[in-house]
Amino acid sequence: MLKLYNTLTNRVEEFQPLNPQEARMYVCGPTVYDYAHIGNFRTFLFADMLRRYIKYKGYRLRHVMNITDVDDKIIARAVESGKPLREFTDQYIQFFFEDFDALGAERPEEILRATDHIPEMVELIKRLGASGHTYQSEGSTYFRIASFEKYGRLSNMNFEGVVAGGSERVDADEYDKENVRDFVLWKAAKPDEPSWETELGKGRPGWHIECSAMSMKSLGETFDIHAGGADLIFPHHENEIAQSEGATRKPFVRYWVHAEFLMVEGQKMSKKLGNFFTYRDLVAKGHTPRAIRYLLLSAPHHKQLNFTLEGLRGAERVVERLNDFKKRLTELKPEAGSSPAVAELIEGSRRRFEDALDDDLNTAEALAAIHDFARETNVAMKGKSIKADDQKALLALIDRFDSVFNIFGEVKQELLDSDIQALIDERQAARAAKNFARSDEIRNQLTSMGIILEDTKEGVRWRRK
Ligand SMILES: [Zn+2]
Repeated sequence: MLKLYNTLTNRVEEFQPLNPQEARMYVCGPTVYDYAHIGNFRTFLFADMLRRYIKYKGYRLRHVMNITDVDDKIIARAVESGKPLREFTDQYIQFFFEDFDALGAERPEEILRATDHIPEMVELIKRLGASGHTYQSEGSTYFRIASFEKYGRLSNMNFEGVVAGGSERVDADEYDKENVRDFVLWKAAKPDEPSWETELGKGRPGWHIECSAMSMKSLGETFDIHAGGADLIFPHHENEIAQSEGATRKPFVRYWVHAEFLMVEGQKMSKKLGNFFTYRDLVAKGHTPRAIRYLLLSAPHHKQLNFTLEGLRGAERVVERLNDFKKRLTELKPEAGSSPAVAELIEGSRRRFEDALDDDLNTAEALAAIHDFARETNVAMKGKSIKADDQKALLALIDRFDSVFNIFGEVKQELLDSDIQALIDERQAARAAKNFARSDEIRNQLTSMGIILEDTKEGVRWRRK
């Protein structure tokens, strides 16, 4: 039985979907104004692993992810770029899914864009208005948190003082607990900003209402799992509960699951500290998507993960070793038959793997089970005690493991064309700066990944071996 830590109840609980046939899960998706960084991908890969394990457990799954394509930050960046909002966000959505796919994540059943759901948001805000949760001021509509008794329950904060005050409000999409206030549902239009003409007036939605409207539209008014990064607990998820339950008077979400922060080299990731990495930055440094995926999944989601480049180099060696192991096992030509010792190894490894993931998705322990399994299988291969039926069963177990982790398989064929081009550009820049050590290093790295470079008069051409 899968057990999950539920942020709402502060307890580890058995997961039982409302409909025993189908689990329903919503994950807050990317805000598309830049390339996603590895902290974002920690959350998305965690959600991917959770998704895969739910299916592993035999449930049908309906997984919805939104794309926030309108909010304060996006509008500011789009205005800066001089592009219309849709055109500006389209390109970052494309980049996001290139990275998402390269990192071996499965696409959710439904991917919903906020700006495609303005009517649903307006409906929900009207419904909240009818039940006395909203008020208007200067063309904007706000949620009155004093009208929702359970406000603060998810983030475990005592907001009494604020609730008593009542009249303060916040217009920003992002704010902290120090600034807990009535929050904006619909923002009055400002000049030069994208806006929609609706019954609430000309304006645009606040960030929080987007997720309430889209999740309930696709999954119903009560659904099973809502996941996201721990940084979303307040105010985003707290506000989602207020908006959804304020309108429906039904429980919104049964299990709230949050992935902890990612630290880089022991510190909070920031551009100033030079420890800020997008997925593409790491690929340009020569790291493979599979190693990045491995490292991001290696710590359980309820623990902070300290991401280091040293750790990533280690992950590179680990996935390569696993890949070699599977290859050797595949190429084995054993004699017919089976051996009880191997059957025992398979059963024990499978049970240990499942026990670990059932225990609030303890990925560190599940990966340890895989490594021990590989080590013991290696010993059996050397001792020639693996027979033909064993070989099949061992490979089937690897496939079972990999249906959750997706870390075996070819390490070297995963480079995207755009990643290769980024490396070639970096090599050209290194050559121009007469940094031949670096340019040779990049060439060798590409060669080892099966990429052939040809220097021509028109520039560098490349092809796959
Ligand atoms: Zn959200």
